Amino acid sequence: MGSTEREPEPRGERRFHQLSSLQLESVRRRTFASWPSASADPDALARDGFFYTGEKDHVRCVFCGRHIGAWAPDDHVRTDHARYSPECSFVAGHLTGNIPRAPRTHDDDAGRLYAFLDDYHASRLAHRPPAHEGEISVRRRAPPSDEQPAFPEFARRDTRRRTFSAWPGGAGARADSLAEAGFIYTGVGDWVQCFQCGGGIHTWRHGDDPWADHAYFYPYCPFVREHMEQEGGASGVEEVLAPSPPPAPSVPSRPEELSPEEAELLLHHPIAQRLLCKGFDHRIVKEALKQKVEKSGLMCSSLNEALEIVFDYEDSINESFSEKSTKPQ
Ligand SMILES: [Zn+2]
Ligand SMILES: [Zn+2]
Repeated sequence: MGSTEREPEPRGERRFHQLSSLQLESVRRRTFASWPSASADPDALARDGFFYTGEKDHVRCVFCGRHIGAWAPDDHVRTDHARYSPECSFVAGHLTGNIPRAPRTHDDDAGRLYAFLDDYHASRLAHRPPAHEGEISVRRRAPPSDEQPAFPEFARRDTRRRTFSAWPGGAGARADSLAEAGFIYTGVGDWVQCFQCGGGIHTWRHGDDPWADHAYFYPYCPFVREHMEQEGGASGVEEVLAPSPPPAPSVPSRPEELSPEEAELLLHHPIAQRLLCKGFDHRIVKEALKQKVEKSGLMCSSLNEALEIVFDYEDSINESFSEKSTKPQ
């Protein structure tokens, strides 16, 4: 199966920059592209917090981490989720960072907020290189820059290969080929990230070529460019980096900075509402959340994260205030 036989796909579809993008129902839904079971509905699974692991009919909840599989026709997604994971915060209705797929007709503020966050995330993925916001728990030796790898620990092929010890056997690409093409396994589903550019790809189908997909989704990656130059000279680079005709971006571009109306909309998120109930100043909450969304493209994933962000923001204001007031006249 050659890459020429593949359907052209929008660049945003299989990309990710952070594992926490699984908090979006729309992202979870995309992991079910090769879902093999007719017994459980992928829409219902994604709605209930699950993503597809790529192995048999196994799914995993983003919020409690529980794996469930071997779905039978009479199974009910929510009933089974609650039975096997009664402690799941999502099932219990506690605050999570879940971003449901809002029906586009929804015209209340929460519905508008969810639709906005979904569109904002999709637009950033489609139009922006990863900003080295990987979440693999490795310590970085230096702050990443354009030349600096996102995960310098994995610059060697054999160290990347070792991250694939729990790679799902049913996944569409082989661990050896992925490690060769610069990827490390995140431990989640079939999600891998490039050690150099930090770009992530998921939902591997049989016949996918890791080098070609790396070049297609992250054409500016220095590791890919170096490889292509070695492989085929300048013409080889041209061929992979500029497929003809290039598929039109499916997601419209938009400014990353939030408008005042969009920032105001953030205050309708349940986590923001809880902060306001706790007595935090609404301008502080709004500005802190605005910065968080503009920086990462995602809303906070928990109340604790939101609290940290708000406290950090208050600290930064106080610091700049005391710097100004202690400056000699
Ligand atoms: Zn759960
Ligand atoms: Zn890369």
